[in-house]
Amino acid sequence: MDTGTLLSKLNKLNTLSSALEISESERSRFVEQLSAYANRFISELPEKKIFHNKKPESLAISNSKKSFIELLDLYHKEVTETGINAASGNHLGYIPAGGIFASALADFLAAVTNPYAGVYYASPGAAEIENEVLNWLKSIFSFPQNSVGNLTSGGSVSTLIAFTAARDKFQIKNEKIRNSVVYISPQVHHSTQKALRIIGLEDIVLRSVPLDAHHRMRADALNALIEKDIAGGLHPFLLVGTAGTTDTGAMDPLDELADTAERHHLWFHVDAAYGGFFILTSKKELFRGIERADSLIVDPHKGMFIPYGLGAVLIKDRTAVLHSNQYVANYMQDAVTDDLIQSPSNVSPELTKHFRGLRLWLPLQLHGVEPFAACLEEKLLLVKYFRNEAGKLGFLFGPEPDLSISYFWYPFESDADEKNRMLMDEIHDDGEIYFSSSVIDEKFVIRIAVLSFRTKKETIDKAVQMIQRCLKKVQTR
Ligand SMILES: *Cc1c(COP(=O)(O)O)cnc(C)c1O
Repeated sequence: MDTGTLLSKLNKLNTLSSALEISESERSRFVEQLSAYANRFISELPEKKIFHNKKPESLAISNSKKSFIELLDLYHKEVTETGINAASGNHLGYIPAGGIFASALADFLAAVTNPYAGVYYASPGAAEIENEVLNWLKSIFSFPQNSVGNLTSGGSVSTLIAFTAARDKFQIKNEKIRNSVVYISPQVHHSTQKALRIIGLEDIVLRSVPLDAHHRMRADALNALIEKDIAGGLHPFLLVGTAGTTDTGAMDPLDELADTAERHHLWFHVDAAYGGFFILTSKKELFRGIERADSLIVDPHKGMFIPYGLGAVLIKDRTAVLHSNQYVANYMQDAVTDDLIQSPSNVSPELTKHFRGLRLWLPLQLHGVEPFAACLEEKLLLVKYFRNEAGKLGFLFGPEPDLSISYFWYPFESDADEKNRMLMDEIHDDGEIYFSSSVIDEKFVIRIAVLSFRTKKETIDKAVQMIQRCLKKVQTR
């Protein structure tokens, strides 16, 4: 290609590709439109239906271009008005979400500036923010400052990193897999089994430890199982305790579990994905022993009300973590720094990553910790309040919950399971407040999980009225 042709091609391509760098006036206009939309969305939340039993229809990418306003409209209709509105405080099902605005601003800032957070050398500032968030987490869980941490996309990936470190420390490979044992609760989150499968431990022996009446793992039963396995020639390897079970909100007795793990030299992992941040509340005492864990996961996108996509893992054994994750590629030789764990990419399967630390660092710097702790304390009391008020309507409840999840059912005289299921359907049809259901001790139950920062006393009052209205419908059928 001669220089003339080359230059004319470049000219043409430049004109076309320049569309990606939009002008300052357009940027301002889009941000204003987005801001107006966000304000409307948030102010309408309390009155909006929480659940739309509807599927999206027109999200396919087409050749015809759309304006930003059209796209906002489309998003509104096809995304925010299908399924569960997870940003709403009326969400009391599954594990409710958050979505604090300060995190949205942080995401915007991170996306515009786009620093390379995976490698310290490339962006010491961004890597440092990731690490400062981890340092803060280490301090609230009393983990040593020299432990390793990583900010992940969520609890499931955090679990993968923790279990991989455990696997590599204990060298669970080849024939050792079938003889090694993992101890879990029947209430363990399914991401545990999934992680074991993904990291090649599908054939490991899984033991389900019996629970007490509060759905907490029984340390005595655990000890008995371990001793039996040792006598049988097996190798107890990993103990998974849960600080706040997803279904029942129960706290396993962490300190006793830590004793047992220590006695038998197991890797002690604590899943605090849902419950972890309640350590900032009056429930702190229930977390005694968490600091003795070998690894810990916690989800800021649950208990810190951050938008989806922020989990964390803390691990004490840095050698084990580096063994699975650290690698020096030739093309990255300039980027090796002295302290390996300064770079998130050395302790995670990710290399290039979303600069997700900013979504927690910025809100903490803007608001301080206090409003977060107060909000969690409020959630604990709201569940109590719900139990009192729905109790007055004749509902029965599971045990007094350790945290902000509980379950209940109506004692219909006959076909209780069937009728509670009908009640659940009525509640979903009503759509004002969202609850989900579960099966606990073979009984159909309705769950309440309070964790949205937008759930308030008024929400619970509305929920109780709605349940009463739905109950009447089932009773008069
Ligand atoms: C939500 C949850 C997980 C999984 O975390 P994700 O962030 O959804 O991947 C694991 N354990 C518990 C107890 C949870 O509540």
